[in-house]
Amino acid sequence: MVASVSKCRVCREPAIIDLPRHNANFCAEHLLQLCRRQVEKAIADHDMLSLDDRILVAVSGGKDSLAIWDILLELGYRAEGLYIGLGIGDYSDESGGYAQRFADERGLTLRTIDLRGEYGYDVPTAAKVTKRVPCSACGMSKRHLFDEAARAGGYDVVVTGHNLDDEAAVLFGNALRWDVEYLARQLPVLPARDGFPKKVKPLVRLTEREMAAWCIVRGIDYQVEECPMAVGNKHLGYKEALNSIERQSPGSKSAFYLNFIERMAPILASHSRAAAGELVACSSCGAPTTEPDSGDAPVCGFCRLRGRVAGHDPVPVELVLHGGARTAYRAARLAAGSAASPGATADGRTAQ
Ligand code: SF4
Ligand SMILES: [Zn+2]
Ligand SMILES: [Zn+2]
Repeated sequence: MVASVSKCRVCREPAIIDLPRHNANFCAEHLLQLCRRQVEKAIADHDMLSLDDRILVAVSGGKDSLAIWDILLELGYRAEGLYIGLGIGDYSDESGGYAQRFADERGLTLRTIDLRGEYGYDVPTAAKVTKRVPCSACGMSKRHLFDEAARAGGYDVVVTGHNLDDEAAVLFGNALRWDVEYLARQLPVLPARDGFPKKVKPLVRLTEREMAAWCIVRGIDYQVEECPMAVGNKHLGYKEALNSIERQSPGSKSAFYLNFIERMAPILASHSRAAAGELVACSSCGAPTTEPDSGDAPVCGFCRLRGRVAGHDPVPVELVLHGGARTAYRAARLAAGSAASPGATADGRTAQ
């Protein structure tokens, strides 16, 4: 039996990708249309952005942040980018290159911050000195610097490239622990508050695989490798578990996350303590922070971290990765090319 050539659901031309969760195949043009419409729906449903907003996109050099920057510009939004050099060895050097080339080729404004050059530390060194997982210091640093850049630059909103896979994995982890505080705050929009800018995630209706396909069709060159610090972490494990469920039952992942947002998040809203508590200015950098119980001068988490780790000799990435993660990272680098190829996105499920 000769396998039939799959056809686009919309135009019946040959398809380049099948999307089991939509029970359909799409050609390049209609894949782009689907992605645009999903972003427009997320923006409209959650009142994320207006065309007047000055938008700052958190750019990592990966597919999601470059894709959302591209989509927002296509939709007519005024969006500039900010890239933070985290000092994670070759990974950071390469990711900065992808971000800069994307901006240069399109004549876009990309602001850059070098964590070690401007603040005296990098993520591997912070992880080693604080004896905490790298993502903890990294996440805090990025949040602080994006907030600060948005305030200083007069931006109305910060956009991040978190996609459906990211959000579903975080939700899965929070639900496994029934962490009601975190569940209550897991929303695609965080409103501006007390000096913190509004933050939005317009890709929450789109998967990693769809974003990889967007970049390939649009000719966007992006960093395929995962951050070496992420290899072997819980978040990736949750993604794998959800992908396994998705293979058995296409559509489960989006139902899990999108129905949570629609049905559970309103019920949990009163459990969020985020709205409670007065914030005061950090005595060191001026960023909003919680008032200490001790009566000491308030110092934000970022300034405390910086005070502990700035000035230490740089710690190489390899010293922060444990053996299993190092091995997995090497394997991921070898496999990375196939995840970004058009063949992988067209054959169904390999890059989910
Ligand atoms: S995986 Fe962790 S360390 Fe790497 S960029 Fe993401 S938050 Fe930072
Ligand atoms: Zn089509
Ligand atoms: Zn501070």
